[in-house]
Amino acid sequence: MKYYSTNKNAPVVNFREATIAGQAPDKGLYFPEMIPHLDAGLLRDIESHSNEEIAFRVIRPFVGETIPDESLYEIVSQTVNFPIPLVPLNENIFSLELFHGPTLAFKDVGARFMSRCLGHFVKDAGKKVTVLVATSGDTGGAVADGFYNVEGVEVVILYPSGKVSPVQEKQLTTHGNNIHALEVSGTFDDCQAMVKAAFADDDIRSRLFLTSANSINVARWLPQQFYYFFAYKQWPDKAKPPVMAVPSGNFGNICAGMLAMESGLPIKHFIAACNVNDIASHYLATGLLQPKQAIPTLSNAMDVGNPSNFVRVLELFGHNHDAIMKKLSAATISDEETSSTISRLYNEMNYLADPHGAVGFLALENYLHSRPGCKGIFLETAHPVKFPAAVGEATGKEVHWPETVNAVMQKEKNSIAMEPDTRFLKEYLLYHH
Ligand SMILES: *Cc1c(COP(=O)(O)O)cnc(C)c1O
Repeated sequence: MKYYSTNKNAPVVNFREATIAGQAPDKGLYFPEMIPHLDAGLLRDIESHSNEEIAFRVIRPFVGETIPDESLYEIVSQTVNFPIPLVPLNENIFSLELFHGPTLAFKDVGARFMSRCLGHFVKDAGKKVTVLVATSGDTGGAVADGFYNVEGVEVVILYPSGKVSPVQEKQLTTHGNNIHALEVSGTFDDCQAMVKAAFADDDIRSRLFLTSANSINVARWLPQQFYYFFAYKQWPDKAKPPVMAVPSGNFGNICAGMLAMESGLPIKHFIAACNVNDIASHYLATGLLQPKQAIPTLSNAMDVGNPSNFVRVLELFGHNHDAIMKKLSAATISDEETSSTISRLYNEMNYLADPHGAVGFLALENYLHSRPGCKGIFLETAHPVKFPAAVGEATGKEVHWPETVNAVMQKEKNSIAMEPDTRFLKEYLLYHH
């Protein structure tokens, strides 16, 4: 498998080169040259295959010859070593719970896969790599956990001060050793802009071997396809494929799902479930992609005004607006609706959802309302405990923290404060880390 840049002005590369580089030199995102076709056998008796085996068979064509099968099997086994259950909420709506990993959000899968692939490649190269990543909350913890103590890899995480939840902050600031947290007095978009500027800086690039662990990295983006296969494996009515509602911010997760669908996985339709940061809705309505300043909401991991993976959705459908409209809808859910949905789910269905899952649920419920006979799945992307204030307020009950969270909450936060200015980031990268 080869990967080209979405800006079409860079050499094609293999999986190894794409993983190490993160972004293409022309600032485009790497995209697979062809969409592999699933072998029908895997789908026919998917229930009889283990998650490890499904994951291995899905990812293998994308990795190609860059990792030997035996090592790749071990990497995927360590990546999907926690449950991803499909839970029915009523007759038509199911929750795919992606929060049972070590940092309680779906980004664990991508971060665990990428860190192990990068560890494998660095070992061969004998060089030191610096992973630079901006987070709106969950990426930071997942990347910190996935990369902690991976030899040859230093990790620098930028996060917007005061805009991530207490658990999220602890999960990304308490590791120490090769994990460094920069607390930026700005928004997630500021953090992302600083990271992009650092990657574009020749001076930095000539002195450090930089890569990104944001969802633009193919090694983080592609394994997110697994969720959709695991969902299908557990789907009770194989003759009637599900509608999938995906809480979306940077559009990496939903785009991985759409890639899986294009490779042959039966999915009826996708819904990008967004909060008021809804540039996808605007694109679907008008055909124009207009980035906006991000607005803070209860579902803060989706407060993204310029979703970096949206270009991959466009690429997947040859930038054909009509073709995209057939497969993708978008919903805009307000904070009031999010909060009342958390409360309704808790009181009427005995289900505790986090704000992102609630956005997904309501987007799906609204979509199914006018389509009798359809059933669907929403992705519950984070554990409710990661958003205790919003969930506690909506349900009137304190959210209980699992043991694992208690342990991290006891630890000391360790971050470096920084103004949202690339010059400070540059100085830090070159002289202080
Ligand atoms: C990152 C995140 C999202 C958004 O996923 P994208 O791939 O950026 O669209 C949704 N929910 C939660 C809890 C997240 O952490």
